[in-house]
Amino acid sequence: MAEVLELNSSEFEEDRYSRLRLIPWWEQDRLKNACIMVVGAGAIGNELIKNLTLLGIGRILIIDMDKIEHTNLTRSVLYRAHDVGRYKAEVAAERASEMNPDVKAKAFISNIIDDIGLGVFRRMDAVLGGLDNREARLAINQSCYKVNKPFIDGAIEALNGFARVFTPPEGACYECTMTELDWKLINKRKSCALLTHEQMAEGKIPTTPTSSAVIAGVQVQELLKLLHADRGLPTLAGKCYVFNGLTHDSYVVEYQRKPDCMSHDTYENIEEKPWSARSITLGQLLSEVKAEMGENAVIDFDRDIVTRAHCSCSENKEIFMPLHKLRGQDIVCPICGKTMNFDTVHSITGTEDFLDKTPFEIGIPLLHIISGRVGYEMRYFEFTSDFDEVFEGL
Ligand SMILES: [Zn+2]
Ligand SMILES: [Zn+2]
Repeated sequence: MAEVLELNSSEFEEDRYSRLRLIPWWEQDRLKNACIMVVGAGAIGNELIKNLTLLGIGRILIIDMDKIEHTNLTRSVLYRAHDVGRYKAEVAAERASEMNPDVKAKAFISNIIDDIGLGVFRRMDAVLGGLDNREARLAINQSCYKVNKPFIDGAIEALNGFARVFTPPEGACYECTMTELDWKLINKRKSCALLTHEQMAEGKIPTTPTSSAVIAGVQVQELLKLLHADRGLPTLAGKCYVFNGLTHDSYVVEYQRKPDCMSHDTYENIEEKPWSARSITLGQLLSEVKAEMGENAVIDFDRDIVTRAHCSCSENKEIFMPLHKLRGQDIVCPICGKTMNFDTVHSITGTEDFLDKTPFEIGIPLLHIISGRVGYEMRYFEFTSDFDEVFEGL
């Protein structure tokens, strides 16, 4: 017996990952070298981060802007009572590093819709969603398609849930799966411009640690298969795993790709530029783009930027932020209390009166990708100098 044990220990070097390596197609190095974004550090996010950490995923970016509340403690394995009041993303990143020192996790106290540049998405192996709202899913879906990265989404309600995988540029995307009701709910949210962020949060959804464990487990298993894509394993690409927690039935549905879907845009040939969204001015940026593409070039952003708020009472002020970020206090006129009107831009042509501002100052995130356009010709330029700041510690 002793002989056998000795033989085992000398023949197979046992480390933390030895039992995982027993899976025939498994390559631990692929997990170690992977860089994964987890959006949302709530019920599903906790389970996603836990699984990724146990498995030894090398780098995890955790995006969440909320703080821990007492009600989170029933569904969040990473949080303790004394964490209440701290940022979810920060605590989750700390706990991940504690659980597995091989893992580097970084917290981003950020809104996924506005604050994470496309260059960040571009450096991911996959984006995992643990979200409770359609608008954020739609934004992630568009970003993933632009830079050609898989989006593995999860959703739960009470004991039920589903997990689905979108792999650009082929197959159905999240937007392809959206129904008229989904759009109605998104538009309703958008029209509620007078509500605060907290009020705008969609109706609270009942969630459990049990259904989130099932769904996040499926999501991470899908990730493992995508990381071993050359091994011929079946995946949920373009499909949805539906879990009925009352009967414990489950089934898979296949989504249809909609040919007229607006989210299938993929950026070809992203060019890395030694520019920082924090320091280059819009005027300098336009000169650089003109130098690349000619005097008629303009810059396009992928979002509407508010430049000015004005009111019928003659109140008129500069305001620079993505339209989506406007909140109650920005919308009401401070003088007369009426709803303000807003000027927006999504291109820079050279005639603007704010060319001395930086892209960051008007709401373009670090490491983002902008478009240069002349007629129908488009080129895509990345603020690559922001890399070190965004990926510091990873
Ligand atoms: Zn689509
Ligand atoms: Zn007014």
